[in-house]
Amino acid sequence: MKTLIEAKKVKAYYVLEIFGKQRTVRAVDEVDLDVLEGSIHGIAGESGCGKTTFLKVLFAAVEPPLRMVDGKVYYVDGTKAIDLYSVEESERKRFRWSFASYVPQGSMSVLNPVLKIKDTFRDFISSHLKGKNKNEAYEMAKEHLKELGLPFKILDAYPHQLSGGMRQRVTIALATVLKPKVIIADEATTALDVVTQRAVIQLLKDIQTWQHSALVLVTHDMGVHANITNLLSVMYAGKVIEEGRTEELFDNPKHPYTQYLIKSLPRFGDRSKRESPPGSPPSLLNLPSGCAFHPRCPFKMQKCEKEQPTTFKVSESHKVACWLAEG
Ligand code: SF4
Repeated sequence: MKTLIEAKKVKAYYVLEIFGKQRTVRAVDEVDLDVLEGSIHGIAGESGCGKTTFLKVLFAAVEPPLRMVDGKVYYVDGTKAIDLYSVEESERKRFRWSFASYVPQGSMSVLNPVLKIKDTFRDFISSHLKGKNKNEAYEMAKEHLKELGLPFKILDAYPHQLSGGMRQRVTIALATVLKPKVIIADEATTALDVVTQRAVIQLLKDIQTWQHSALVLVTHDMGVHANITNLLSVMYAGKVIEEGRTEELFDNPKHPYTQYLIKSLPRFGDRSKRESPPGSPPSLLNLPSGCAFHPRCPFKMQKCEKEQPTTFKVSESHKVACWLAEG
């Protein structure tokens, strides 16, 4: 499979003034990730582990107080690899939405409440595709809704006249109307009921298949990862601590944190108590020494408190950052 986005040793930190002192939040710390054409790549982990910040980096949406401190992100367009953070902002803007698009947590942050949906589509399309007039943009929006099986009448509605689920579908339609190569979705089903969640996830999956794009899906819901992703990266305290083919990670999780995330999933017919990781994730302002998971880990060794684990290969496609895998 072709690589569409290549992230190498990315460090993205928030630099904040707290009570007159400069503090650094290491939200993303030395993260590598390849987004492959045709893949559905899940990113899992509890809240506050750096998932959303990493998506901002992939979507070229790094704004103060967030800073790209080190590392590279390449968008690979045909035979050209664009070093995203070394080109001008105007150039980055050109790739945003057309090469990689973003579906955020809340649909209302994308849809203008005082514009009808059709006007949001017209403005969005004509601002990105120079030369498309408003009528052509409207026809393009209609055609895209038809492909997605969404009713045309929503174009005449204001966002508040639609249900939460329909607004999220509209957001997805808007994010994919320019046929981006990569769709980045951040907790796209939060605050939706279970049935709507399934429909929204299915819509994203269908678009990924039709457009032969890649889908990067952030969710803390391991059930969603198990059902639709084919590659999975687990993040903890700003780092990827385990990654591989989803099937491999679910069958043979190596990191104690991944094991907890999988054990916390409800299973049909099993009434035993689900196990979640003890305690809570550390503050990214003040990370524990050594392995950041050590205060919560039942298998910690002396070494874990002092030395950050290196990444070990479990198989060609499976890696883990844990001293237990040292062999
Ligand atoms: Fe636990 Fe040590 Fe592995 Fe960290 S490196 S997860 S503390 S065993």
